[in-house]
Amino acid sequence: MTREIIRAESLDHALELYRADPAHTRFLAGGTQLHRLGGDRKCSREIVLQGVTDGEIRRKDKKTLTIGAAAVFQDLADHPEIPPVLKDACLSAQSRTLRQMATIGGNIAAGLDESYLLPALAVLNARVRVYQEGSTAEEIPVEAFREGLITHVIIPDITVPAVQRRISRSSQTKAAVTAACSWGTEIRAAVSAVRCGLVVLQNTGALLDQGAVRDDQELADLAAGEFDPGDDFTGSREYKQYTAGVLLGQFLRTLIDQKRGG
Ligand SMILES: Cc1cc2nc3c(=O)[nH]c(=O)nc-3n(C[C@H](O)[C@H](O)[C@H](O)COP(=O)(O)OP(=O)(O)OC[C@H]3O[C@@H](n4cnc5c(N)ncnc54)[C@H](O)[C@@H]3O)c2cc1C
Repeated sequence: MTREIIRAESLDHALELYRADPAHTRFLAGGTQLHRLGGDRKCSREIVLQGVTDGEIRRKDKKTLTIGAAAVFQDLADHPEIPPVLKDACLSAQSRTLRQMATIGGNIAAGLDESYLLPALAVLNARVRVYQEGSTAEEIPVEAFREGLITHVIIPDITVPAVQRRISRSSQTKAAVTAACSWGTEIRAAVSAVRCGLVVLQNTGALLDQGAVRDDQELADLAAGEFDPGDDFTGSREYKQYTAGVLLGQFLRTLIDQKRGG
């Protein structure tokens, strides 16, 4: 239970407060996960990031986009330069209220199994900038993030064709499967579901590149080699693996059509 809420004065201040007790300290961005019913029971101290991280979205060069960690889903959905796959992922949170509050940094850091954004970000090869002290930062792939203070998300190539889909009973319930696929210089596929969280399918991507896989069942079998979700109320492990295969098949057909200019 939160006992203390402190407004950070700078990135260094936020980091110092966090490092004093990382097990019980959380950063407060939009608060939609941290203050959600059930909340985060380990959290006794919240560090307010407002005014310390920004939500600016800017082009670094022709292809690279830098997004401030405080950008909310609705900002991303409305911005002309955000890749369509990331806009779709943001809009899969159907509540506009939620989209006005939930930040990209908070979504990555929360690292939920049913994350709205992680599969799309992973197939875009997104990287996160994690603040160190004294204005230094380390940049790591989004799927490698475990802890720290995220200041920016970098999309290295916004022109890469990519698609994503979230399968759930309603937008507010847990997703059974969220999957995404991109086709730039190589095919990159990512799936997430309960228990296994985000999985970037290394072998599937390589095999698809070689054109060795054709139908949904083959794709499902292939995905199952790397994607091992749990059973829950959204479906069984086998249902999720098969669904992942079906989605990958659909994605590939869409991406092939896009490549042909269809
Ligand atoms: C009804 C409902 C349904 C939801 N369903 C889903 C869902 O299906 N999928 C999903 O992904 N989310 C879901 N959420 C959770 C939430 O809306 C999103 O994950 C959101 O993106 C979290 O962002 P936030 O800014 O609100 O984070 P916060 O709640 O402020 O923080 C969440 C976590 O991220 C950390 N954090 C925040 N900012 C940073 C930062 N800059 N650097 C490092 N750590 C940081 C915090 O310490 C905390 O641990 C749901 C929420 C509600 C209320």
